[in-house]
Amino acid sequence: MPASSPIVDLHTHILPERWEDLDRKYGYGGFVRLEHCSPCRARMLIGDQFFREIDDRCWSPSRRIADCDSHGVDLQVLSTVPVMFSYWAKAHDALDLSRMLNDHLAGAVASHPGRFAALGTVPMQDPESACRELDRCMDELGMPGVQIGSNVNGANLGERRLRPFFAHAAERGAAIFVHPWEMVGRDRMSDYWLRWLVGMPAETALAAASIIMSGMLVELPTLRLCFAHGGGSLAFTIGRIQKGFDERPDLCQVDTKCAPREQLRSLWFDTLVHDEGALRYLLEQVGPQKLALGTDYPFPLGEHAPGALVRSLELPDLDRARLLGGTALEFLRLDATSLAVTAPRSAATSADRTTGAGTTPAPADARSSTRRSP
Ligand SMILES: [Zn+2]
Repeated sequence: MPASSPIVDLHTHILPERWEDLDRKYGYGGFVRLEHCSPCRARMLIGDQFFREIDDRCWSPSRRIADCDSHGVDLQVLSTVPVMFSYWAKAHDALDLSRMLNDHLAGAVASHPGRFAALGTVPMQDPESACRELDRCMDELGMPGVQIGSNVNGANLGERRLRPFFAHAAERGAAIFVHPWEMVGRDRMSDYWLRWLVGMPAETALAAASIIMSGMLVELPTLRLCFAHGGGSLAFTIGRIQKGFDERPDLCQVDTKCAPREQLRSLWFDTLVHDEGALRYLLEQVGPQKLALGTDYPFPLGEHAPGALVRSLELPDLDRARLLGGTALEFLRLDATSLAVTAPRSAATSADRTTGAGTTPAPADARSSTRRSP
């Protein structure tokens, strides 16, 4: 057990600093390319269309470590930027792209031992290839699991044809982080950043509700799924979902009779809800053992002072330690003792570490390093 409780950020994104022209490599358009416009800034483009401007926090491990140190974050969990999923592409090209991204993720983890872990990416448009790349992520690259998108070319995650991937993930003990992308209703959300503000929470709730209704969690009780952004609007819709489930079993209890409220508690969520009342409500619904700090670093809709919202709640020390790091390590099945110690931190974060001392439960299968063994 560590002398103090680690701070773990489960939800951060990273990209390689450069990659080759994928449109040219694969012979058709639609892939993301990066155009560096200054030493520290680059533009992400799809074809000639501007997608997002990013800075070196997106690709520089040392810049990220400096930010972690200043905010008292012991471990960042790295995953790709969802626009890179490329589920729309030909499966073998998406597999090739996934391998490139995963090799980069593994390199970033290796660059600062004990400070990063990574969740890989897999070509979900072909569940068989996705299983193979999941195995490679875990067995060769030492990752605890992967990040997937909230739908696969419009198919909800509960659909039967995707089940072999989730069955394999459950069998392997993989941690699966579900991130919204290709948001439902996006055609009506081109203004006011609504795709991110309203579309993402709706999309995430749809993904989770689809999984709950499909019976996947009953069929695969060992499956570990964590949803980004606190599960979006799911927790705040669960009463309605349960009501419909009870009132119209002919429509809702088609694939499982297990109550949605009960299934909700078998899922994990990050803490990125930007509202104290919402985080408290989510905590009441699922418990501290299912809530893990996530900031969406380095993007503007993230939590810029990691853990500030969690610290704003009056919580027992044990619960706070769980939310700030213990739950994430359990979800990932990583060993807290292998984390590197961060640089000096603020008084607030030092207090968390002191008051949380010895309270973070040991992961069920503690590992000897942050690289997960097969
Ligand atoms: Zn994110």
